[in-house]
Amino acid sequence: MLEQAGVEAGESFTVNSNGSVAQNQNTSKWMQEVNTTIEFQKDARAAYEKYGPTAKTVNELENNVDKTLSKKWGEIEVAGTTNSSGNVEIKPDPNPYTREATRRHENVHRQTTMEGVAKYGKDTPAFKKWWYNPQRWASDEVKAYSAGISYLEEVLRTTKN
Ligand SMILES: [Zn+2]
Repeated sequence: MLEQAGVEAGESFTVNSNGSVAQNQNTSKWMQEVNTTIEFQKDARAAYEKYGPTAKTVNELENNVDKTLSKKWGEIEVAGTTNSSGNVEIKPDPNPYTREATRRHENVHRQTTMEGVAKYGKDTPAFKKWWYNPQRWASDEVKAYSAGISYLEEVLRTTKN
């Protein structure tokens, strides 16, 4: 999963005598980030939908998606990863909502990966051919971004600012 660089920069969660005010300001900031993240993730999903069907390799796909997103969003960095064994890594993110969106996104990749392992065997040539298929890769990204976006839109509907 990709995210806009620097979105969470400078976050702090200091509680002082005005603790509740600080918390409200954090919630407000977090909800702004939720809005921005939804917009970014919809662009990312659209890019995978655009380049997925014709990409020859995952590398070509990722480069095209990255180039497209960078034009609007600047430097792009990774928020989480899932490797070919299904191990998930989530980068530190003080915003509980975008962090949970990343977790749900990577969980889609993890589940898909474990299905592939069950079907083709761990790290077999057939698994690798399947795993690095750019069309499979793109459609799993579309599915993963959709899971994150659904969660964040639910947060917008249900969380008071
Ligand atoms: Zn992803």
